[in-house]
Amino acid sequence: MARADLRVINARVVTPSGTIFGGVGVADGEIAAVGVDASLPDADREIDAEGNYLVPGFIDPHVHWGLSRYEYDYHEGLEHDFETETRGAVHGGVTCVVNFLLQPEPYLPDMDFFKRAGEENSYVDFAYHAIVHQEHHIEEIEELAEEGVRSFKTFFNWYKYASPELGIDHFDAGDVYRVLDKVSRINDGVVMFHAENEDLAQVRREELQEEGRNDLEAWGESSPNVGEAMQIEQIARLTEYTDSRAYIVHMSTGEGVDTVERFREKGIDIRAETLPAFLGHTNAETELGTWGKISPPIRGERSRKRLWEGLRTGVIEYVGTDHCPHKIEFKEKGEGKHGDIWEAIPGDNNGVEYLLPVMMHEGVNRNRLPIERVVEVCSTNNAKRWGLYPRKGAIAEGSDADMAIVDLEKSAVVDDDFYHTMEPGYSTFHGDELTGLPTHTIVAGEVVVEDGELQVDPGGRNYLPRYESGVPTR
Ligand SMILES: [Zn+2]
Repeated sequence: MARADLRVINARVVTPSGTIFGGVGVADGEIAAVGVDASLPDADREIDAEGNYLVPGFIDPHVHWGLSRYEYDYHEGLEHDFETETRGAVHGGVTCVVNFLLQPEPYLPDMDFFKRAGEENSYVDFAYHAIVHQEHHIEEIEELAEEGVRSFKTFFNWYKYASPELGIDHFDAGDVYRVLDKVSRINDGVVMFHAENEDLAQVRREELQEEGRNDLEAWGESSPNVGEAMQIEQIARLTEYTDSRAYIVHMSTGEGVDTVERFREKGIDIRAETLPAFLGHTNAETELGTWGKISPPIRGERSRKRLWEGLRTGVIEYVGTDHCPHKIEFKEKGEGKHGDIWEAIPGDNNGVEYLLPVMMHEGVNRNRLPIERVVEVCSTNNAKRWGLYPRKGAIAEGSDADMAIVDLEKSAVVDDDFYHTMEPGYSTFHGDELTGLPTHTIVAGEVVVEDGELQVDPGGRNYLPRYESGVPTR
């Protein structure tokens, strides 16, 4: 067997056909061999995993690089965030991201910039979803698909009363029908939905503010669980009507799980993603303050339990983070962690870096999910859904050598030194001790982080156009 560039030995390797004891050989950035140590080729460099797990690098399908444009210049925000936030990603064992394009202008004229911004500044390969919120965005869908963007997120009702400076317009049932119908004709096309009901939330917000409420539970009550279920109900019916494919981003409620399950049983292609923040927290944790303000809100214990159950039974197939990079002053509007819950900016920071540790800590180490299922929902399924499999999401011969070694007993407290992003100073997991951390992150066969130390410079990564993946995803 030809000599390899790198081999990892003495690992529990999580492969698509089961977990084996052994390792991998890597050549030219790809996995060249998987098997027991004695079967692996000689290599220029060897890492002894010391019996720890070797998993495919996690894929975060839900990040918002470019949001720091509110703190930087419009287009520079994207380049900035690719460098700072994917630096955090590799420290956390995430080796690929799918980022949401968001701007009021058409996307197509800027596609070269979007590709270059990542290729020159990212530590990991990346793909794109586009947020379709203007009439001209609907008209771009087919051409965006040719550019390899095949997933289109809409705000169905949500942001109906948003201030104009946000620059996002909501869609009604007619717009959503047109998007679902168009996308149903694109191979691997998927329509993604934020599922909250703003008509309901608008009234509840007013009521709660009149009562003088200013706490995390009030933020949850302002967009009640039933609103998510109502929206998913409509999305599922429109998906059935158009014979299309839908994906609920950041599903937060038990009612959502029940609704998706019911329509999945009818054979409708509606998929669901949830977030570590919903799996790790409840809104009874008032000490989270404005740091716990995300949209949709963190829910109660019943929902949290039902989300874990949904991951176990298969109703929820994907975990992403909805990582929103903002400086703490911007998030808190200068009022501190326990300032005005209504005025603070919604969104959690640093998800891309806490994804793997939280899923190991809350999922594997607390016996809620086996590590193989965690790998599926955080890596393999994300690669499949977004047309990246088997190049990504698997430890198998021919796949990109994107991997992490995970020590399930290694612990750290999430403090200001834990993260490596633009703003390490806050997240919903601040102050928590997490057990189950990556010791090495490998991207394209190169060790990029070893024992917390960054080994490489950013850039030289690939935009992943989602042409026909060759793998049926529906
Ligand atoms: Zn999001």
